[in-house]
Amino acid sequence: MSECTFCSIVAGDLPSTKVYEDDRTVAFMDINPASRGHSLVVPKEHSVDLLEIGADDMAACMQTAQKLAGDAKTKLGADGVNLLNCCGADAWQTVFHFHIHVIPRYRDQPAKDRLRLPWTPEAGAPEEISAAAADLTA
Ligand code: 5GP
Ligand code: ZN
Repeated sequence: MSECTFCSIVAGDLPSTKVYEDDRTVAFMDINPASRGHSLVVPKEHSVDLLEIGADDMAACMQTAQKLAGDAKTKLGADGVNLLNCCGADAWQTVFHFHIHVIPRYRDQPAKDRLRLPWTPEAGAPEEISAAAADLTA
């Protein structure tokens, strides 16, 4: 068995509840769901994170996530969907095989939806926003 949990799931060495598979990707249910129907999309080929994954696998994962987002609305009755990727331990990544969380959202249904906005939106200082943009485009 692989040392990587998600490689083991892709290989079928670890059990999972799969909901989709194609040439490049597999999607399966998250064992700690943030909402009803929370799934994870992974590339079959191991990549550590968002910065390492190749463009073709990235595109394939995003297409699978889009399909599952549609299914969440049409088959689960979700009111919306969040896609989440955590890149790096400081960004909450805990499994180091790239994955996209597909999290169906349910309006006013806390029993089905435990997701909450993790920050309090407030206006940033315009000069600091501009300085960050300048750093990004330097
Ligand atoms: P991350 O924190 O890296 O963005 O997300 C990792 C996700 O993988 C978590 O939501 C966690 O619940 C899920 N997870 C961890 N181990 C397993 C496992 O063995 N099987 C499944 N199905 N999900 C897992
Ligand atoms: Zn892996």
